[in-house]
Amino acid sequence: MSEIGERFAEIKESLPDDVQLVAATKSRSVDEIKEVVEAGAKYIGENYTHPEATEKYEKLGKLREEVNWELIGHLQKNDINKALPIFDRIQTVESVSKAKHIDKRVEKAGKAIVPVLIEVNSGREESKYGIEPTKSALEEMIRGVGQLEHLRLQGLMTMGPYRGDPEDARPYFRVTRELFEAGKDYVEGDGGMEVLSMGMTNSYRVAVEEGANMVRVGTGIFGPR
Ligand SMILES: *Cc1c(COP(=O)(O)O)cnc(C)c1O
Repeated sequence: MSEIGERFAEIKESLPDDVQLVAATKSRSVDEIKEVVEAGAKYIGENYTHPEATEKYEKLGKLREEVNWELIGHLQKNDINKALPIFDRIQTVESVSKAKHIDKRVEKAGKAIVPVLIEVNSGREESKYGIEPTKSALEEMIRGVGQLEHLRLQGLMTMGPYRGDPEDARPYFRVTRELFEAGKDYVEGDGGMEVLSMGMTNSYRVAVEEGANMVRVGTGIFGPR
């Protein structure tokens, strides 16, 4: 197995069975992505819709059918039409208005439903997107997204402040987990809060301890960028 494959397998094995591992592939080549898919990766996380994800998607050929394409970077309004045919899930919906823009374009992209996660700005950082980490902001988002015919809410995603010490991320993961639990009261009918996506290379272990069931790892699999 390739080195990338080995690192992927090692991390996957270290995780509880119910935690999904997203290979975060920003700035990685198509060959590197192939290696991780061949090692069994089921989730590929891309940050930039165009041109990066569109080109890789094109070049991967049949192999792309074997994985779920996750948008984990910010979605510009201008890129929605390009993103919809590629991504199986958008993890970074940060406002009701963005959700409405996406919803309006789903059918034209040849889809009926697009699964989404709400991005939470758990550290209240100016430089990051996401809703405020409060129950009222979450409730407003859940109610808003719930009214859109073509979006299916599946949970929450957060980045949290990036610092050297993974322990520093714990409070932000904890707040997001609390919102995840609270959100279950705001969704109508079945489902709506199943996926909690948080943690990166330096912090995924802490994220899992705090309840993440999806982690997004780049450097730990592919090496330093
Ligand atoms: C780059 C990125 C990751 C992975 O980061 P690493 O530190 O390389 O593991 C995870 N999530 C998002 C949103 C990213 O942009």
